[in-house]
Amino acid sequence: MDRCQERRDKLRHDLKKTGVDALLVTNFVNVTYLTGFTGDDSYLLVRHDGQVLLSDPRYTTQLGEECADLDLHIRRPGASMLQSVLKVLDSAGVHRLGIEADSMSVSLWDRIAGKLPNTELVPTSGMVEKLRLIKDRDEIAQIRKAIWQAEKAFGVLRAALRLEQTEKELADELEHQYRLFGAKDCGFPSIVAVGPRAALPHAAPTRKRVGEGEMLLVDWGANERLYKSDLTRVLAVGKISPKLRRVHGVVLDAQTQAIAAIRPGMPAQEVDAVARGIIADAGYGRNFGHGLGHGIGLEVHEGPRLAAKSPTILRPGMVVTVEPGIYLPGWGGVRIEDDVLVTRSGREVLTSVPRQLEHVIVN
Ligand code: ZN
Ligand code: ZN
Repeated sequence: MDRCQERRDKLRHDLKKTGVDALLVTNFVNVTYLTGFTGDDSYLLVRHDGQVLLSDPRYTTQLGEECADLDLHIRRPGASMLQSVLKVLDSAGVHRLGIEADSMSVSLWDRIAGKLPNTELVPTSGMVEKLRLIKDRDEIAQIRKAIWQAEKAFGVLRAALRLEQTEKELADELEHQYRLFGAKDCGFPSIVAVGPRAALPHAAPTRKRVGEGEMLLVDWGANERLYKSDLTRVLAVGKISPKLRRVHGVVLDAQTQAIAAIRPGMPAQEVDAVARGIIADAGYGRNFGHGLGHGIGLEVHEGPRLAAKSPTILRPGMVVTVEPGIYLPGWGGVRIEDDVLVTRSGREVLTSVPRQLEHVIVN
């Protein structure tokens, strides 16, 4: 059976349990997940006995190519999405309508409620996101491809790295390389941070140049059509300071132990605690200010979260990043990030760029 059909059937099963007649999917990423349609500005109404995609004439051809089997409601030029929604709901006989509370705007809610006084709007949260937690074979294959593209691009960057290149030049070069290796574009704006700027976990690339013995933090990932990869490595040109050696060792140990803890049935927060414990024992507990990792897929940040308060229990098919870091203001920061698939028997590290200290040094 078609993957998207399978996903919609799973969703329908959950709709019954929630007690709604239909779900209006307004989050475009969720629409893509459920239909294969890659455009935006489109909603999907999923009923117990079918579904209809609400879109506009710009997308007619693309819809025919990407999801020919779906019922479509293409609005006329000049007609609003609200009018489409009202029309489709009216003919579907929906009394209790589930809406995506994390996506629908207050104004759309207001207008639907105002026009359809006999339809009860029922807020739901994470119904489609919950399905997206577990990747199927096609999704995993696409993530692997996005990782391959990112790793190839990084290989080129590392081989050509020289002093005086700017953060911005390096970030642009990565983006160019993803595309040469077949990616659609970048999975997210790359972080390339030199020296003390590496202490900013989300540094945007500037004109700052790579200097002798200075650390360089690179956080990058490709977008293979729809699916993303996400990696981080630290490099240093020429030589490496004893402090970088020490901090890198702690982060690498935290990451290695956390990855080893990943298996089905393991609470995500315990995986986070493994890394956090090692970093705290080394005296850097206050310098690791973010969660250990996050899911990747259609979005570069999605569920599940590996974090202190995460409620998730790991299950086969989840793909998560493991990215402990230590950030020391005024000095710099070290983060090491890899992408890990939870398998039936444990885990598979999908990324393969070496992370040992000897690979940090670029001559
Ligand atoms: Zn990253
Ligand atoms: Zn990440």
